[in-house]
Amino acid sequence: MVDKRDLDGTVAIVTGAAGDIGGGLTRELAAAGCNIVIADLGVSESAADDDSKPDNRTHATELADELESMGSETLLVECDVTDAEQVEAMVETTVDEFGGLDILMSNAGIITSSPVEEMDEDEWDAVMDVNAKGMFLCARAAIPHLKDGGSIINTASIAGEIGAGGIAHYAASKHAVLALTKTLALELAEDDVTVNAICPGIVDTPMWRDVLTPASEESYDDTIQRSIPLHRDQKPEDMGRLAGFFAENRNITGEAVKVDGGITQDVL
Ligand code: NAD
Repeated sequence: MVDKRDLDGTVAIVTGAAGDIGGGLTRELAAAGCNIVIADLGVSESAADDDSKPDNRTHATELADELESMGSETLLVECDVTDAEQVEAMVETTVDEFGGLDILMSNAGIITSSPVEEMDEDEWDAVMDVNAKGMFLCARAAIPHLKDGGSIINTASIAGEIGAGGIAHYAASKHAVLALTKTLALELAEDDVTVNAICPGIVDTPMWRDVLTPASEESYDDTIQRSIPLHRDQKPEDMGRLAGFFAENRNITGEAVKVDGGITQDVL
């Protein structure tokens, strides 16, 4: 008998759920039978007047409707992953509403681009806070509820395994995510909680279109053709299918899987 978890009726928190990859993660997890907590900035009515937050309300509400039409129960939760109190509240609300938590899909992340020589401390700190500390805070809050059969899945990046010019803070934060993933896998094995990471390559999102492409000298499409051996970019749903695979399989832990069309194999 294969050790495989049936995801039907399980409960998954997805942070950064209103983003592009968040959409693929939530759709594929919902298709596998999960109920979904859509956690992000700017998804609640109370955030409407806060100019410091993106307005994700319409998109998040439409996403919730779509997931519900697939048979999933959903919950929208306003949560800044850098704020320990908000993260604790997100987990408590989930457990109160759904009666438990099975999967933490830690996905919220940000990027900016500057060479180290021009990068100020605030820029470094902001990226490290969301991408690295945010995943620590979410894991710490979720662990007490994940015992016996739970899963933590962290969205890292291929920049978690290699250097990446112009995004030292981002690469450092994603290396930290992989270190956190491997360490949590060891710490939580006795409780039968698996911990794994997804390393996306190039997904057509604002991260690439608005930040990384303008910082390079070539177009997005040229980057895809030149740098990806399979000559196509990756899709949010690719990440969602891998998340479902990690959550179902009970004998994979401490792993990081690259979904990058072969970019990181091409060393010559
Ligand atoms: P995105 O900008 O579309 O989505 C990121 C989401 O995170 C947004 O909805 C944003 O509101 C949310 N977020 C930002 N700061 C937050 C905070 N403090 N608290 C809660 N939520 C916050 O970008 P994406 O491409 O969907 O990125 C998702 C993840 O994938 C990130 O961790 C990113 O580093 C990673 N990634 C993306 C790519 C890519 O090609 N786009 C490649 C490798 C890794």
